[in-house]
Formats: sequence, C-alpha cells, structure tokens
Amino acid sequence: MIFKVLVFAVVAYIVYAMFFKKNREKNVKDNNGEYIEDTMDECPTCGTYISKSEAILSNGKYYCSEKCLNK
Ligand SMILES: [Zn+2]
Repeated sequence: MIFKVLVFAVVAYIVYAMFFKKNREKNVKDNNGEYIEDTMDECPTCGTYISKSEAILSNGKYYCSEKCLNK
C-alpha cells in the first residue's frame, strides 16, 4: 500500500516537473522573441527593418546590406 502511494508520488512529480520545464522553455523562447524585436533597426538607405545581429554597422547606423551601405 505504501509502495503504491510512493510510485504515484514519483509519477506525479515527474509529470509536474515535465510540465514545469515545458512552461519554462516556452517563457525563454518568448523572451528571446522580444529580445530580437528590441534590436530591430531601420536601414537608413531603403527603410527596411533588420535585426542588428544581421545588419552591417557603419558610422553608428545599421544597414541591411552592403549595397545600401555603399549608396
Ligand atoms: Zn537597406
């Protein structure tokens, strides 16, 4: 009888832990999405919004491509 209760407790804990982990991963993903959105900037040549991680930085401005940079 005690063994059954123990097994149930372990299973319940595993299910809870998996559910909690899933939620945490989702939150991290959402935060990353916001982070990428926060670092979007407008290309001064063509007006396209590009993420700063992919943009070319020149004179403190973010360009979407070398073509816009050299214009
Ligand atoms: Zn551009």
